Amino acid sequence: MASSKHVAATLDAIVIGSGPNGLAAAIVIARTGRKVLVLEAEPRLGGGVRSAELTLPGFVHDICSAIHPFAATSPMFRTIPLGALGVEWIAPSAMLAHPFDDGRAALVHRSVEETAAGFGSDARSYRRLMQPIVDDWPLLESSVLGPLRVPQHPFALARFGWLALRSAESVARQTFANEAPRALFGGIAAHSMLPLDRLLTAGVSLVLGAMAHVAGWVLPRGGSQTLTDALAAHLRDLGGEIAAGSPVRSIDDLPPARAVLCDLSPKPLLRIAGHRFPQWYRRKLERYRYGMGVFKVDWALDAPIPWRNPACAEAGTVHLGGTLQEIVRSEQEAWSGRPADDPFVLLSQPTLFDPSRAPAGKHIAWAYCHVPHGSDMDMLPRIERQIERFAPGFRDRVLARSVLRPSDLERHNANLVGGDIAAGVTDIRQFFTRPTRRTYSTPVRGLYICSASTPPGVGVHGMCGYFAAQRALAEVLRD
Ligand SMILES: Cc1cc2nc3c(=O)[nH]c(=O)nc-3n(C[C@H](O)[C@H](O)[C@H](O)COP(=O)(O)OP(=O)(O)OC[C@H]3O[C@@H](n4cnc5c(N)ncnc54)[C@H](O)[C@@H]3O)c2cc1C
Repeated sequence: MASSKHVAATLDAIVIGSGPNGLAAAIVIARTGRKVLVLEAEPRLGGGVRSAELTLPGFVHDICSAIHPFAATSPMFRTIPLGALGVEWIAPSAMLAHPFDDGRAALVHRSVEETAAGFGSDARSYRRLMQPIVDDWPLLESSVLGPLRVPQHPFALARFGWLALRSAESVARQTFANEAPRALFGGIAAHSMLPLDRLLTAGVSLVLGAMAHVAGWVLPRGGSQTLTDALAAHLRDLGGEIAAGSPVRSIDDLPPARAVLCDLSPKPLLRIAGHRFPQWYRRKLERYRYGMGVFKVDWALDAPIPWRNPACAEAGTVHLGGTLQEIVRSEQEAWSGRPADDPFVLLSQPTLFDPSRAPAGKHIAWAYCHVPHGSDMDMLPRIERQIERFAPGFRDRVLARSVLRPSDLERHNANLVGGDIAAGVTDIRQFFTRPTRRTYSTPVRGLYICSASTPPGVGVHGMCGYFAAQRALAEVLRD
């Protein structure tokens, strides 16, 4: 809780939570010369953007986010001198590899052309699918990375939207004749944390896929914490204050401020502010739906992962799940409450491109799979079996492991209810109007939500914080 020692003068705004959206909101308000205090429950700032030696000394793992296409391209973060504040984006040689049992692998490169060239008879289909989105990205950006509003570029949005609204499974099958691009498209869509026959899952694949070409699936040298540290330094330069290790248990305990912005998803928000809301709004927040959880593993490794196909070592991210059909089944099972026997695994291998994160010659790897909401099932053997399938001998290189189940993730960060890293289901019913139609506002004047449970949702881009802060500035911080 905030004590008076944090409060040098009357506050204009308090931000609860120091995730990327909380820090972005605080920066937007501090830039106007107003006085802002950020209160963070955990001893370390950053929420989903933190790093720590989870396994052995000298091995720096990302606790949550690892790959940052959105941070590199975010209109909010573009306004911050991240480079001068120590953030160096590393682009792996390939953005993504997706290996198959026959030893082949589909690769996504920075260039659409080079990527398409790997798809044989589907090369033209890949180009026709992705190139227009990459070309139109400057026109689409404000619609994709913002709340629902009248589009500035309706034609570009309509062209993208009719495809984006569809299911990934149908777009993959209809667009491509061959298994490799179909599975690749499905694997990227699985980041939606929805079954791949759901509406909008194609949009997730198209946007994330295009990001590989627009910004790159990049990682910050030294680990994700460097991004948080840069945002926090920028906020302090602007005069903002930050207090870590300061959990807010009730908004009644806060010092006076004209605006309070909560970097919280509905469940933790209800815990601290539910008693202030009218019943109808409390009910709406109670009905907010959280989705699948995540079972995450970090490894300290004696040597790089021994991929059967050496091209996989060119990629920062590797998707392990085989065919489109297998990925569809894995996601459907986790969604329906059954942990998949052969889970789709999302893996990153940062030390191939950033040796600073492990002792000389040693490596780290980061991976997770989706599991039923709140599942306690030990997925470690299944995840390692999927890695061994494409990298025989992987287990022999493991020096140490760290495992985070859904309950561990939620303990690290109250927003990750049931291990849901998207801070709520992102299906068509809950995508545009998160967490309610009021989005950033609540019925309590001056109380706002600025977390990934508001538009544009999950990802490290700070745009939820940006829009929530704009609303607070327009409504209660006008003078
Ligand atoms: C395992 C995992 C992997 C991910 N991988 C990626 C990735 O590779 N790329 C990507 O773009 N995104 C990724 N994400 C998603 C990304 O991390 C989130 O979308 C993003 O962090 C959301 O930011 P936020 O500011 O809304 O909230 P959060 O980052 O969740 O921050 C909320 C903060 O509020 C604090 N808090 C909560 N309750 C209180 C309280 N009562 N008082 C004070 N403080 C409180 C929390 O401790 C936390 O620090 C991943 C997430 C996870 C969990």
